[in-house]
Amino acid sequence: MSKQVRVRFAPSPTGPLHIGGVRTALFNYLFAKKHGGVFYLRIEDTDQTRFVPGAEAYIFEALEWLGIAPDETVGKNEKFGPYRQSERKAMYKQYADQLLNSGWAYYAFDTAESLDAMRKEAEANGKTFIYNHSVREQLDNSLTVSREKVEERKANGEHYVIRFKTPVNEILELKDIIRGDIKFDTNLLDDKVLFKSDGMPTYHLANIVDDHLMETSHVIRGEEWLPSLPLHHLLYKAFGWNAPEFAHLPLILKPIGNGKLSKRDGDKMGFPVFPLEWKTEEGVSSGYRENGFFPEAVINFLALLGWNDGTEQEIFSLEELVEKFDLNRIHKAGAKFDPEKNKWFNHQYLQKQSDASLAESFKTILDKKGISTSLDLTKIVGMIKERANFVTEFWDLADYFFEAPTSYDEKAAKNWKEETPGLMQQVISELNKMEDFTSTNIETLLKEWMTTNEIGMGKVMQPLRLSLVGALKGPHLFDIIEMIGKAETVKRIEKAIASL
Ligand code: GLU
Repeated sequence: MSKQVRVRFAPSPTGPLHIGGVRTALFNYLFAKKHGGVFYLRIEDTDQTRFVPGAEAYIFEALEWLGIAPDETVGKNEKFGPYRQSERKAMYKQYADQLLNSGWAYYAFDTAESLDAMRKEAEANGKTFIYNHSVREQLDNSLTVSREKVEERKANGEHYVIRFKTPVNEILELKDIIRGDIKFDTNLLDDKVLFKSDGMPTYHLANIVDDHLMETSHVIRGEEWLPSLPLHHLLYKAFGWNAPEFAHLPLILKPIGNGKLSKRDGDKMGFPVFPLEWKTEEGVSSGYRENGFFPEAVINFLALLGWNDGTEQEIFSLEELVEKFDLNRIHKAGAKFDPEKNKWFNHQYLQKQSDASLAESFKTILDKKGISTSLDLTKIVGMIKERANFVTEFWDLADYFFEAPTSYDEKAAKNWKEETPGLMQQVISELNKMEDFTSTNIETLLKEWMTTNEIGMGKVMQPLRLSLVGALKGPHLFDIIEMIGKAETVKRIEKAIASL
């Protein structure tokens, strides 16, 4: 790649960042790092009506948490700043003027009411109203009104917009890195609004001007922006600028059924679609972070939504992703979102964490429950983590280490036979004889006792586990016995004998 790679993530702060937006940010990040380029973040907030307080801070916090913070953005290496479009407002007018002067744009005075009436009339005739070459010469705009009149109406404070004058009868043959060659018929495009009389540019104008001024080399964004590609291409042409290369990422699809993944799918099936929790007056939308996902796991599963490295490999660190990422390996087809697979990724990353660091997180959970313990949490975590997808599951997997069972699993209790209390009494006396109370020693001695006395293993092991755990679950039984200690073990067996 000859030119310096500069790519951007350009969210509009209209709410919490959806997981699809995070993937767009990630792919831009990976591409930039892979090519030793720059990943910058520009806030596209020209539509003040859709502005949501807190959304911008949320975007920064989410990318920070995921470890893919931009190299340049608001308040950080502002080489081409400002990085917030609302603060660049004064810049855009001259570009709209440039297009007016070169005949690529025109003023339009049509009121919302008149446009609405035309829309309704078209609908009544089974047609769709499009503001384009077919009607523009009959409407209230500078193509039909004299120059003097236009100036007069502007001076009188009449509302206007500046529209792009889409060329007629052209077939655009455009390139997309992911989709290959795509043809667009300019006759099917509408004359999009570029600028409004309140002095604000629309997305299209601001986006192209900024991508140019900020020296964007590649535009990597979601497929929903593909329909804007012909207009964007024409804008570059109209300005006489070189266009960046484009790559439109495949949609992220619902886990079941057809269509784009939505927040509703998450609510229905109980998984987050946002990286971080988002609170509004209407309620709380859950986030991956608050649900106990590791940022590395989220990065990993997002990277595989629409991309793979051509092998069966599924676990990738961020560094590995940077090394292997290739826009040419992104699929055209939509990528199904699989919440169960996401948990699997988290499981994998949980296993990679050190027992000591997981023990710290577990300690926080225990503190919240008001449980203080002298037990070795690092060791306990080591015994149970294999069964966990999340640290939040540790309590359910390990509660019996800290609290004696208060009830016994009914099905398992059926194995508590007439001879069981007697056997359990003998277990108690065997345990009491032991001095070296370690897992292996307990195991060896109890098994020796069972063999010598010809007692079946199942007759002892299951009731013993039931006494200590309350159910037939948990790690190696002798590890549990060692951990809770002789006195507690004996106490629990006695309680089981009394209550079962
Ligand atoms: N502001 C647009 C968005 O919200 C940016 C689209 C683009 O990347 O061009 O996604």
